[in-house]
Amino acid sequence: MEPWNIVFLVGFIAYVIIRGVFEQRSKGKVKAVSRSDRREVILIVIMAIGSMILPVLYLFTSLLRFADYRVPAFIQWIGATLMVVALWLFWRSHSDLGTNWSRTLEIQKGHQLITHGVYGSIRHPMYASIWLFSLAQGLLLENWLAGWSAFVAFAILYFVRIPNEERMMSEFFGEQYDDYMSQTGRLLPRLRRS
Ligand code: SAH
Repeated sequence: MEPWNIVFLVGFIAYVIIRGVFEQRSKGKVKAVSRSDRREVILIVIMAIGSMILPVLYLFTSLLRFADYRVPAFIQWIGATLMVVALWLFWRSHSDLGTNWSRTLEIQKGHQLITHGVYGSIRHPMYASIWLFSLAQGLLLENWLAGWSAFVAFAILYFVRIPNEERMMSEFFGEQYDDYMSQTGRLLPRLRRS
């Protein structure tokens, strides 16, 4: 396996471990609201194909060889740097969100609106970290399919889910979430707070 593929694999394993640890902690929570419909299931399947199945096929088989290309090493250095930042933000956002996390759109019994830590300046730090991770995947893997599949898959998930997630949060938390929205940006901090 090529060195940059190993770098990706290590980052990928770290991502799965972080998710696994926090998923365990959220297990057994009682749902108060669930917006997990068929559309959500389709989004998660698209994401699994783009961020898991295609990269694994690329790393461990020769099936995707036809879509290979080459980039200069500095591109992969940028990819590796972005991956470190992505993993840091992924871990921080899981840690701040704690047991309020869920894979699909849900509100749990006793759900708390988190506005501290990395949630203090942006509303979707975990999605920001997945954007960064998907970009890092594209820069590290020299393959049109395995490299950019996560980016495309996440773009679909992000743009479909965000309005639904924010609507759900606003319906449940009311003014508290609306105030929080006026203080924060989605992926980047707000320059001027209203
Ligand atoms: N969009 C957030 C969280 C992703 S996990 C992020 O990118 O960081 C998805 C779940 O997190 C949603 O179902 C919702 O219940 C919960 N959630 C989103 N923002 C939250 C917040 N500020 N406080 C508490 N829970 C939140």
